[in-house]
Amino acid sequence: MTDCIFCKIAKGEIPSKKLFEDDDVIAFHDIHPIAPVHFLIVPKPHVASLADCQPEHAQLLSKMLLLGPKLAKEQGLDTGFRTMINTGAGGGQEVFHLHFHIFGGSQTLPKT
Ligand code: C5P
Repeated sequence: MTDCIFCKIAKGEIPSKKLFEDDDVIAFHDIHPIAPVHFLIVPKPHVASLADCQPEHAQLLSKMLLLGPKLAKEQGLDTGFRTMINTGAGGGQEVFHLHFHIFGGSQTLPKT
């Protein structure tokens, strides 16, 4: 999608503080972190949200999920982290390209 900011980041057209990249997925630090460590895991193909995923996305979703703990560990989140997927306007999603938030490193994360 031409106007999508995460598509542009995935293509390297907009810089990001990258943690990981392969043919399918990119992970980078959130530009407005809500915790000492806060990064996003983003699929390279444009999928608007979790609600738009189809069975053919299962492998991609699995790869994204499994990447979370690996990158969290590399970022020093040894005691754990929070994973958040905002879905749709009603779910607080602002960028309509699927992404997983991973954040932690603070003792003051709100209880949900
Ligand atoms: O899940 P939601 O769509 O609300 O969050 C989008 C996230 O993408 C925000 O946390 C925002 O800071 C982040 N963002 C970013 N780099 C951009 C644009 C947005 O890290 N260029």
